[in-house]
Amino acid sequence: MTDGLECVFCAILAGRAEASVVYEDPSTLAFLDINPMVPGHTLVIPKTHRPNLAGLDSAQMAALIQVGNRIASAMRLSALRCEGVNLFLADGAAAGQEVMHVHLHVIPRFAGDGFGLRLPPGYGRQSRRVLEQQAQLLRHVLEDETSGGIHKGP
Ligand code: AMP
Ligand code: ZN
Repeated sequence: MTDGLECVFCAILAGRAEASVVYEDPSTLAFLDINPMVPGHTLVIPKTHRPNLAGLDSAQMAALIQVGNRIASAMRLSALRCEGVNLFLADGAAAGQEVMHVHLHVIPRFAGDGFGLRLPPGYGRQSRRVLEQQAQLLRHVLEDETSGGIHKGP
């Protein structure tokens, strides 16, 4: 079921490392982050070792987001402080991914919890011309995919 021998999340899946499990089903495990940003901070992982998002098939991707959504709902109903929820997924080292086994962060939020994203210098409204140029870069790849290229989606 798992094959990332040096991977800490595979060690949890194999029972070689401890975890505080929140939820489990045949394809997915959810457990508390060992360094919680906010109390209740949960990680949802596929039970198969996949370093990156692109390695997940549609069913694994759907399971990840569905379980994340269930946990977000549970957080709101639980005794944990939760007025809102952030779903966060770092895909690739440049995006902040440190554990190379895909994981979805589910982070309960409340006013004044101290958690936040830092915005880059120059952040603000962009011109439509530049937005259209950037959208075209993405449309170009997506249109290639649907015409038989690298398409893997549903
Ligand atoms: P990321 O930066 O998105 O790769 O996040 C990796 C997360 O995994 C961090 O929030 C770590 O605190 C968490 N983490 C690392 N090792 C463990 C572990 N043994 N049990 C639970 N969470 C862990
Ligand atoms: Zn792994």
